[in-house]
Amino acid sequence: VSRNPNEPEFHQAVKEVLESLEVVFDKHPEYEELGILERIVEPERQIMFRVPWVDDNGDVQVNRGFRIEFNSVLGPYKGGLRFHPSVYDGIIKFLGFEQIFKNALTGRPIGGGKGGSDFNPKGKSDGEVMRFCQSFMTELCRHIGPNTDVPAGDIGVGGREIGYMFGQYKRIKNSFDAGVLTGKGLGWGGSLARTEATGYGLVYIVEEMLKDNADSFADKTVVISGSGNVSIYATEKVQQLGGKVVAVSDSGGYVYDPEGIKLDTVKRIKEVERGRIKEYVKEHPFAEFVADSSAIWMIDCDIALPCATQNELDGESAKSLVANDVIVVGEGANMPCTPEAVEILQESKIGFIPGKAANAGGVATSALEMTQNAMWDSWSFEKVDAKLEKIMVDIYKIISTTAKEYGKPGDLVAGANIAGFLKVANAMINQGVV
Ligand code: NDP
Repeated sequence: VSRNPNEPEFHQAVKEVLESLEVVFDKHPEYEELGILERIVEPERQIMFRVPWVDDNGDVQVNRGFRIEFNSVLGPYKGGLRFHPSVYDGIIKFLGFEQIFKNALTGRPIGGGKGGSDFNPKGKSDGEVMRFCQSFMTELCRHIGPNTDVPAGDIGVGGREIGYMFGQYKRIKNSFDAGVLTGKGLGWGGSLARTEATGYGLVYIVEEMLKDNADSFADKTVVISGSGNVSIYATEKVQQLGGKVVAVSDSGGYVYDPEGIKLDTVKRIKEVERGRIKEYVKEHPFAEFVADSSAIWMIDCDIALPCATQNELDGESAKSLVANDVIVVGEGANMPCTPEAVEILQESKIGFIPGKAANAGGVATSALEMTQNAMWDSWSFEKVDAKLEKIMVDIYKIISTTAKEYGKPGDLVAGANIAGFLKVANAMINQGVV
């Protein structure tokens, strides 16, 4: 803590992993002897840089850019870029740290990294977003590459931003390195099903857990927070599997539609108009808007999928879900449940799948995009989607088996942390003290 002051999110993420690992260290003291822990919590490289750009009024704006290259023992650093005013090194470090273990769970050859900026894309014109992205990439391009570090999107970074950044990278390097960024457009190196992957993957892994308990999504009532990339495609897949999503949200509040959320409306408001979720009720009079996004967890449901942001579901919310007899909580976002919420859910024997496992479908499909780029090929939607589903089913199997092996059956937080750690730690031992 004293080496990383004022970074509560990073401390929270590290503490959760280290607590799970006590049983591993009891069994395998060799990890302690080789300094694995001291090395794994220290990023291999941390880059922070100035991002100057000119707004539409001709005024100079200055933001701060970050790229944290955390661990490359399994492959090139891989992880998204987040553009949000709350971004600072503690947020990027927490995300980068989690990414190491998540990427290990996918079974793909990818290391862990994360980056972003405190730039706020909300309310900015396309021209402003483009100039910002170009300036950001002008510095970032010297640190990344298809075999070095491969960024992707995250909050505030979608297809538009990836396009502007790729264009600038290519211009500076004079080289069409498709594999340098993932989440690209479909006409120029992007993978089919990448847009859908995180949300779909989340629903595949939850479905697998339900199946394990002789159940399914059919006829379940589902609440999904957020209305961005993860939330929209989680909603789509739940609806395809016969579940009913009754609420989605943004930071301004949630909409509750007892007849089931009309996804076409959400997609148009969010993906086309870049508007606010409260506009939904103008078109659907039976729906209700509540200007308090955290109150979404008070809604009675069978399955809750937090897909917005870190620490959005606290102890009170968890108690309400338990009181409403929720069956499963699957984390689509990164660390959306507070430690208190996780404890309450696990003590109440609610099926809980942590983000490290549950949202790994996005990065896994990014790795499939890298494979296609390396082969100068592109696969059908069905092929990518089938691979994604298999990866998620395999992750469920690995984490539930590992939890059992280490004497914690059903504790998928422990299962995910231990399974991810073992893969990374063993590779670190093989590669020596570096
Ligand atoms: P987006 O930017 O597309 O969407 C984020 C959504 O969350 C927006 O609707 C935003 O609303 C909403 N939101 C933000 N804060 C709150 C809040 N306090 N309460 C309710 N809603 C809120 O991001 P993504 O969908 O890509 O990412 C969501 C989460 O999933 C993040 O934690 C991300 O790290 C994680 N993730 C994403 C992956 C991906 O492939 N995209 C992969 C793995 C994890 P508003 O517009 O008001 O800010």
